[in-house]
Amino acid sequence: MPMMTRINVQCPRCGNMFEAVVNPLADVAQDPEAKARLLSGQLNAVQCPRCGNVFQVPSPLVYHDPQKELLITMMPMGIAMPKQQQEKLIGDLIREVTNKLAPEQRKGYLFNPRQALTMQGLVDQVLQADGVTPEMMEDQRKKMRLVETLVQASDEDLPRLVQENDAMIDPQFLQLMTLMAQRMLAEGRPDMAQHIISTQQAVVELSSVGQELIAQSQQQEQTVREVAEDVRAMGARAQRSDFLNLAMKYGDDDERLQALVGLARPAFDPQFFQELTVKTSQAPAAEREMLENLGQRIAQLTAAIDQQSQLALQESAELLQAFLNDPNPDELIRDNISLVDDTFMAVLTANIQEAERQRDIGLSAKLKDLYNKIVAALRDNMQPELRFVNDVLSAPTDDQARALIQSEAATYGERLLQMFDAVEDVMASRGDQAMLRRLQLAREEAEKALARL
Ligand SMILES: [Zn+2]
Repeated sequence: MPMMTRINVQCPRCGNMFEAVVNPLADVAQDPEAKARLLSGQLNAVQCPRCGNVFQVPSPLVYHDPQKELLITMMPMGIAMPKQQQEKLIGDLIREVTNKLAPEQRKGYLFNPRQALTMQGLVDQVLQADGVTPEMMEDQRKKMRLVETLVQASDEDLPRLVQENDAMIDPQFLQLMTLMAQRMLAEGRPDMAQHIISTQQAVVELSSVGQELIAQSQQQEQTVREVAEDVRAMGARAQRSDFLNLAMKYGDDDERLQALVGLARPAFDPQFFQELTVKTSQAPAAEREMLENLGQRIAQLTAAIDQQSQLALQESAELLQAFLNDPNPDELIRDNISLVDDTFMAVLTANIQEAERQRDIGLSAKLKDLYNKIVAALRDNMQPELRFVNDVLSAPTDDQARALIQSEAATYGERLLQMFDAVEDVMASRGDQAMLRRLQLAREEAEKALARL
């Protein structure tokens, strides 16, 4: 039974005074999670009942980790508990820690506790015992301060600040921004979280490391395109053995292998693995190990994809629920439109079908209304050229599509042709012949219209 203490605290955000219940003993020997809670800032964190702010309560605390031989006491200054009472409490806690230990475990460190004045000081000592050097902590703190500076900077100052601190901005720095945004969300401040994420995007675009990350992801996209081409070249009648041959061809090229499994997950089913096992057992000894490794790697990749799609489905279902729960979801849809992807649309469509199957007319109408709103929001969110291509494709007749192009093509210029090409690539992979025909017609018309300018 943990020893709890009642303590009067004041919310640092709104000034509200309230009584909080905290645990003044963090004994890793009794409660292994205590260390993680301390390091993540959750130890004795409370939520202000008035404004919802989450913060750590400064209170007398004893931290004990027998494996690291750490006993640290903290008596924070400026709290509403007399010094004497704090000292008595700390004394009681140390006695409790010591009494729970077997006599042979009562070592010297127990009689010479270290002291910390602040939660941060306590965290530092715990990290130091883990081999985290003061330099590493200082580096982390500098990064944290830079995150704060960048988040507070104006749009005009941001490029200069990023340039000046370019050397400090690395992948961990970007990760730190993500963590900070998550914390803001958890503390009920979505506007701050949103602002941190948009600052992070700007930092990615402006920094050297961001440029590297962008180049990397372009390289990955290129690999995916090439692998997609290899898969398409095998044709619609490709067998599992064809996929195996392709995987063998990629062999050690893990990026290609990853792209292949990602693009053609269904081809790597239990039967595929059975065939691979047979092939492996029949292979000459020299080839066997290669095939075994390949099989293991493909199994890992399929498992990772299944886990991801499970997660994506769950996230989409949660987002849909949030839309449904909002009596007037337009704003919520607009703010979260970037989260609406193919998975979300599949989940939404499946929900509509299920509501119809169960003849739940109310729910089905609500879902369809949501569907229309989301499609409209997606349309508003499109690049103007893409929106225009969309309008052309959905024009009722070819003549109307032509007229649309003749009157509007000049507004978009050459970019329009690029957009037609990009859309054509997507349509071709879906094999929608009617759309493709309209698209080719529209592209020719646009080319003529632009040539006339
Ligand atoms: Zn408050």
